[in-house]
Amino acid sequence: MEIKVNKEKCTGCRICVDVCPVGAISVDDNGRAQIDERCNLCRLCVKECPENAIEILGEEKKKAETDLTQYKGICFLQNTNTVNFHMFHMNSAEFH
Ligand code: SF4
Ligand code: SF4
Repeated sequence: MEIKVNKEKCTGCRICVDVCPVGAISVDDNGRAQIDERCNLCRLCVKECPENAIEILGEEKKKAETDLTQYKGICFLQNTNTVNFHMFHMNSAEFH
């Protein structure tokens, strides 16, 4: 995972600088937050930033991966030209 400041959203308010427990955040010459290697990915700055300018990259991808434990089954539907498959979600109306 990697932490990143969106320089376009950052207003340089320094809230993140004050909350970071390891002093990993400073403000650059352009008045935007920057994060150094001392960051331990505690996420405090992500929660406190009023502009939602700090992101931890790698998390979204992980969440977006399909969790197959949430599916009840896989159904293959075949006709003469195509094979379609459909995954039935546990919360799907098809099972209510
Ligand atoms: S809290 Fe957010 S807006 Fe404020 S300096 Fe930090 S990253 Fe920029
Ligand atoms: S995630 Fe935690 S350690 Fe890293 S910069 Fe933000 S507040 Fe500091």
